[in-house]
Amino acid sequence: MTERQRLFFALWPPAHLRERLTAVQGELGRIGRPVAAERLHLTVAFLGNSDPERATEAAAAATREARGFVLRLDRFGHFVRSGVVWMAPTEYPNALETLHRRLRRELRRRGLRTERRSLHPHVTLFRKATPSGPHPAASLEWPVDELTLVASVTRAEGPEYHRAGAWRLPLGEG
Ligand code: ATP
Ligand code: MG
Repeated sequence: MTERQRLFFALWPPAHLRERLTAVQGELGRIGRPVAAERLHLTVAFLGNSDPERATEAAAAATREARGFVLRLDRFGHFVRSGVVWMAPTEYPNALETLHRRLRRELRRRGLRTERRSLHPHVTLFRKATPSGPHPAASLEWPVDELTLVASVTRAEGPEYHRAGAWRLPLGEG
């Protein structure tokens, strides 16, 4: 067993979407602490302190026949208690639900626990936020073709994310 790390599985936006999300943050204005462009992501499963080797094996098994999919981020929301402002897809493809379910199953098989909560896909745009005024209209298309495993390292100035693995989710016909 390798040394445990604070791990999560995520989808990482491609460069063009990161730019769009950054523009949306700009339109929302100074409502809180914006998440830096290179840290914007959508969490698929949070593991917490876990063995990265087992997580890697689980991801390989869970993605063996998985396909890519397209998400459309078209909805804003605000978690009042945590002060988080996010964007999410109103509807999302079964492929994401399936990926989430398979990941959890493969993790469980290897003795790794995940959050019991159901999937609530969202991208956090701001923390410590108190939104005011209307949200901008936005509908951002996100072709998802990769699942990443990320290690979050706690630092005094905030957590650092390190890419610990990635699995292709082929997009296209079929
Ligand atoms: P910080 O906690 O310092 O504000 P962070 O939330 O970005 O930073 P982590 O706490 O390591 O960093 O979390 C990594 C990702 O996992 C984030 O998307 C976070 O929302 C999510 N996450 C963290 N804890 C949980 C949890 N208990 N259940 C579900 N998702 C979680
Ligand atoms: Mg956190």
